[in-house]
Amino acid sequence: MSAVTNKDHAELAEDFNRDENRVDWHDETLWWIRQKRDRIVHQIPDWELLRETASQIKHNVLSNMHSYLQQFEANALANGVHVHWALNAQEHNQIIRQLLKDKQITHMVKSKSMLTEECGLNEYLAEHGIEVIDSDLGERIVQLAKEPPSHIVLPCIHKKKEEIGDLFHMYLGTPSNVADPQILTEAARQHLREIFLTRRAALTGVNFAVAETGEFVVCTNEGNADMGAHLADIHIASMGIEKLIPERKHLGVFLRLLTRSATGQPITTYSSHFRKPRDGKEIHIVLVDNGRSEQLGRPDFRNSLKCIRCGACMNTCPVYRRSGGHSYHTAVAGPIGSILAPNLDMEKYADLPFASTLCGSCSNVCPVKIDIHDQLYKWRQVLVKKGYAPTAKKIGMQLMAATLSSPALYHTAGKAGRAALRYIPFAINNKLNPWYKHRDMPQAPKQSFRDWYLKNNS
Ligand code: SF4
Repeated sequence: MSAVTNKDHAELAEDFNRDENRVDWHDETLWWIRQKRDRIVHQIPDWELLRETASQIKHNVLSNMHSYLQQFEANALANGVHVHWALNAQEHNQIIRQLLKDKQITHMVKSKSMLTEECGLNEYLAEHGIEVIDSDLGERIVQLAKEPPSHIVLPCIHKKKEEIGDLFHMYLGTPSNVADPQILTEAARQHLREIFLTRRAALTGVNFAVAETGEFVVCTNEGNADMGAHLADIHIASMGIEKLIPERKHLGVFLRLLTRSATGQPITTYSSHFRKPRDGKEIHIVLVDNGRSEQLGRPDFRNSLKCIRCGACMNTCPVYRRSGGHSYHTAVAGPIGSILAPNLDMEKYADLPFASTLCGSCSNVCPVKIDIHDQLYKWRQVLVKKGYAPTAKKIGMQLMAATLSSPALYHTAGKAGRAALRYIPFAINNKLNPWYKHRDMPQAPKQSFRDWYLKNNS
């Protein structure tokens, strides 16, 4: 359920910013999670070594993707798992529809999978008469609200408990004005139990796929992936091809990094291994490219494929925390999403790499050491060169370049700017100036530094 909008990040952030209380609360909640992450990370003396190891393992995977994929496929097939390959989102969706059609299944339960968000699976299946119920609590809440997730780990972090109470009252029959999380969780549990018991097909994402054994691991805190997969006749796993790790022994590195970075927990509550189907059941895995090979071929951006989707870069990002996940209008929001999205469509997502202060906090927390802020900076250069920057920004930058490269022009522009601020401030301090919208313009100094220097040092 990706956000459909014509607005760019700045406009959507402006919408989110209208509710100041919500912005403060969103900011504080995510910062609280970031602090939890810091506390638990500091309990591990070898944290930096773990990060470096994970980064190197992923580096190896990216450099040998073809052979690890073949190894994974051969082992999965030998385990009795059906393997499908999808070049893009459309193929991914068609494969899943066909699998359900073959079994005459019209209802499916799904655990959290950002890849299916990226592919727009729920909408596609709905158009073809197949109902999908998301079983992760946060995902179910945003599904009821007919919204996309706003965070990859905490999909409804933008919603307050009172709003969730209203949704549950409307759709699940809870009493009105109930905002007690315990009561709401119990209502969701009863509702989902019925779903788990009656669905014949379950779809899960994949956190890690082990080339050595052909198995895959799904991490959840609610056990919903297990409930769905174990009770259904057919388990479909959607996996981006970058989720591979070479050997089972490498899991220890990633499982220790993942949840500490995500929510500050020592380990995910359920890390379930799926290797072979039980008698009479089927497991299908869909290996999805959808632009990943292209990103692999971009030397400056290939490291983004190391991402293990922990969300730490979002929790720490000052822009994300104050603009909300929906302002990124893409399935994966925040700093990493702003690197991945332009790979899929440069024109549509040209605004996203600019939605960053480039403070580097994202790179500092990333458990697999992705150079996130450097990549955002590099995307800006690519997008400007390709002509995807907004016209106003392009002209502004050209004027700035001309001014900064000519001492005479720079001097004259400085004088003109100081005079304008002093004598006709309304020419600058008006609502047409996007800079002024959120800031006070400075008092113009009486003279420039250059004039002061010439006067005092001649
Ligand atoms: S880029 Fe790094 S910090 Fe951000 S979600 Fe991916 S692994 Fe986590």
